[in-house]
Amino acid sequence: MHAFPDPHPDRRRFLAMTGATILTSQAGAAQDPPLAPPDKQPPHVRVPEPVAKTVGWAVVGLGQLALEEVLPAFAKCRLSKPVALVSGHPDKAKKVAAVYGIDPKNVYDYENYDTIAKNPQVDVIYVILPNSLHAEYTVRGLKAGKHVLCEKPMAATVAECERMIAAGKEAKRKLMIAYRLRHEPFNRTAIDLCRKGEVGKIKLITASNGQDTKAPNIRLSKALAGGPVEDVGVYCLNAARYLTGEEPTEVTAVAVRPKDDPRFREVAESVAFTLRFPSGTVAVCDCSFGVAGVRRYTVQGAAATLSMDGAFGYAGQELVLEKDKRKAKFDLSPVNHFAAEMDYFSTCVLKNENPLTPGEEGLADVRAIIAIAEATRTGRPVPIPR
Ligand code: NDP
Repeated sequence: MHAFPDPHPDRRRFLAMTGATILTSQAGAAQDPPLAPPDKQPPHVRVPEPVAKTVGWAVVGLGQLALEEVLPAFAKCRLSKPVALVSGHPDKAKKVAAVYGIDPKNVYDYENYDTIAKNPQVDVIYVILPNSLHAEYTVRGLKAGKHVLCEKPMAATVAECERMIAAGKEAKRKLMIAYRLRHEPFNRTAIDLCRKGEVGKIKLITASNGQDTKAPNIRLSKALAGGPVEDVGVYCLNAARYLTGEEPTEVTAVAVRPKDDPRFREVAESVAFTLRFPSGTVAVCDCSFGVAGVRRYTVQGAAATLSMDGAFGYAGQELVLEKDKRKAKFDLSPVNHFAAEMDYFSTCVLKNENPLTPGEEGLADVRAIIAIAEATRTGRPVPIPR
């Protein structure tokens, strides 16, 4: 057989080193493929194995995220089943319950929510409420003896976060903050590459997350703990922390609130902030509610540059590592972020393991968010207390 010389031996070595796949395909041996699978059984479709035990979930707050992403994602879960709903709108909740096959007896409102304690079908509560309500419904859920997955940002204040952590410890129940990007392969690979030193010493991180937020929206309300840093900036902040594996010590920040746009009566439109890390890394982040939308980060190391377009979206991540003028694009199989996150937490519950992003992880972001707010008010660098 004739062997062709490898035209890209260096590139191939580089790709093997990083784990990236080669995107150019080589034609295989020319054979006539069979035109139909034998016995009409598609050979490449995996038949799921039954699982010994599933975990029952209650979803609290039937807004955009719950209705458009989380509830549909249960169809892709193996271990997690929706068994209860909590909502201030009973008609909507009953309708949603019917769609997902949830017993109407398992529909709660915000007053009788605590009686969920008596429902053995519910193992986990997923809090998907406005940020200002995360603490109350997490603490009540933990006191009801349930494990809680709480949306980001964890809460509005450090004191609230501390109360949530203490409630979990007291109830001996798990508390996880919903950082879905820790459960999808592109961001996980970016973390691995940074930890393995593929980019060398990390000097700079730039991160942007913006969208055009239309009113009315919980994100534009100060009373509901909205704001661009709390909502979209937290992704940049969290990414800077998970890419470096360090805790920032100091922030600077500038906020913009245009006077002629009524959306920004209570919260800023855009915030730019920097984070200083102990090893010398600086992260330069920006977030906005008034832009068409960018969701990306770049890690500039002494040896290589890693960048991710679409970094914070529900899908569409593009991870590229650039080293010695060569680019490796990672061809990874995407997953449904919410399904992966929920099944991960169900596994923690079933195996009695501590989650990757417990309350302390959410608290670290909230400490930085509060420091960023102070820096926007004072115009000075603000230390982040530990
Ligand atoms: P929505 O405004 O669409 O939904 C919030 C829901 O909370 C409402 O529909 C309502 O449900 C309930 N609610 C209870 N009290 C109030 C109140 N006082 N004002 C408004 N709503 C109330 O918000 P989202 O679904 O977009 O966001 C919810 C949470 O999820 C936020 O913390 C946000 O940061 C987070 N999020 C996370 C994302 C991620 O990728 N991880 C993406 C998007 C959001 P009901 O009518 O059933 O009572």
